[in-house]
Order: sequence, then structure tokens, then C-alpha cells
Amino acid sequence: MRVLAFLDGTLGDPAQPYVRVDNTGVLRGDGVFETVLVVDGKPRELGPHLDRLARSAALLDLPEPDLEAWERAVQTVIDNWRGPSEIAVKLVYTRGAEGDPDVEPLCYALGMEIDEKIKRARAEGIAAVTLDRGFGPDIAERAPWLLLGAKTLSYAVNMAALREAERRGAQDVIFTATDGSVLEGPTSTVLMAKGRTLYTPPPNIGILPGTTQRSVFRAAQKAGWTVKSEPISADELVSADGVFLASSVRKVTRVHTLNGKPLADSRDIHAELCEAYEAQYA
Ligand code: PLP
Repeated sequence: MRVLAFLDGTLGDPAQPYVRVDNTGVLRGDGVFETVLVVDGKPRELGPHLDRLARSAALLDLPEPDLEAWERAVQTVIDNWRGPSEIAVKLVYTRGAEGDPDVEPLCYALGMEIDEKIKRARAEGIAAVTLDRGFGPDIAERAPWLLLGAKTLSYAVNMAALREAERRGAQDVIFTATDGSVLEGPTSTVLMAKGRTLYTPPPNIGILPGTTQRSVFRAAQKAGWTVKSEPISADELVSADGVFLASSVRKVTRVHTLNGKPLADSRDIHAELCEAYEAQYA
């Protein structure tokens, strides 16, 4: 099941082509995107997703997005969805056509079902490997043109890292910086539990600020946890009480194995965090 909506409120046929072959997103990955989770007709963290879309667009010098139009497009997808109760709605925004400024940016919202693999990972947890991203944690501030805090369509590296994980017998990746500090997953934010404190790496080290991480932190804090956004070394993950990957579609997924070695059994912590996270949307 797929539902396609454009910003003028019209529906499209997801099986038909709408993208020009010279689209900048296709030719250069020059564009931005978001993935919003919708459960029982209600989008989660839509405001923060749209704010991040606007921030990413500004970092790429794209025209400021009309957030009301994007919100309407998401609602159009929801109103026309006849599938399961959960939808992953992708918001895609590319610059337009290469070398032709008269062509308008391409913007659409596409509702899709949640992948079975993701659902299984939510329930059973995953094995992850750490992979070096090849730069230090100061790179985002030194080289802002690398767009490390933007959610751009250039995800070829992220997808290659996931294939490398698969070759190593794992399902996901935790990127590390050259100093051994934890960055993020290719499509997720890293959370670590130690005692009653929940940690995540700070966003200024070249990672995407996660809407799910923020939501989980809010919920955990209400449930009595201390939450901290501070550097984490990859060595600390091994002795943590729990390591999790958070993102809109995977929610909070437990990492049970890191680099082939089992981590502490974090099923109880995971259940508690998931319950607190879900309670916010009940
Ligand atoms: N980091 C990266 C690189 C991502 O691609 C994503 C989501 O796809 C996240 C973090 C998690 O973000 P969110 O929780 O807003 O989905």
C-alpha cells in the first residue's frame, strides 16, 4: 500500500513516474527528506520533523519550505490511507532540474507500510557493529559544508555501511569518530542506559538531532530518569546497561550484540522506555 500526495493537496499514483531524469535529487542527491511515523491516523512529532526539514533546507540553500503545505500533504496521505495502522510518511524535497532554474523544486509526501524487518527488530532487538566514519567529532563545526546536521538525500554512504554490517553478520551500525566517540546509526540516534541515566551523543559532533531521541528523553525524564546529551566513547557501550537505536520508524530498538559480543540483557529497560515513549501518544 502506498499513497502519494503533492503540496497543492492533489493525490498522485505512486506507480506512475513524476520525477524528471535531470532532477537534482536523482543526479546528485541534492535535496532533503524526512520520515514521519503515523500511528492510528496520528503523525508523531510532526512539528519537530517539519522544523528539521526547514533547517536541512536552509543548510542546502533551498527555498524555505511552506510548512503548512507540507502538513496538509501529510494529512492528505493519512486521509487516503487504507492500509495497516502504522504508516511511514516520507517527505521528499529536491532542488528541481539540473541547470534549469525555471523548474520548480520537486516536493511530495509518500506514505508506505513499515518494513517487516523493522517490526521484527523492534520486537527482538538487533546485532550492531561499530564502523569508523573517518572524521573527528569537531568536523561539523570546522566544515559546515559537509552538511552533517542536515537530513539530505545523499544516503549512499549510510546504505553502504548497512551492507557492511550485513557482511559482518549484523543488522545495524553505530558510527564512531576517529577519537573513538560514538556518533549515530546510519538512520538512527544512539541511546545508552547506565543506572537510571540515559545518554545520547551531543548534536554538535556532526550527527542529526533525532526527533525520537528527544521524545524518548522527554518520556524518560517524566518517568524519573536523568537524561544527558554528552560524548560517549565506544568502549562505554560494552559495559552499559542498555544500548538502543532510536528513529521514527524503528521507535526504540534494543541492541543485544555489539561487534559479535553480547551486551547486558536490557529487555526490562527496553520495555520501560518503550512504555514511557508510547504513553505520550496514547
Ligand atoms: N540519524 C540519522 C542519520 C537518521 O537518518 C535518522 C532518521 O532517519 C535519525 C538519526 C533519527 O531521527 P528521527 O528520530 O527523527 O527519525
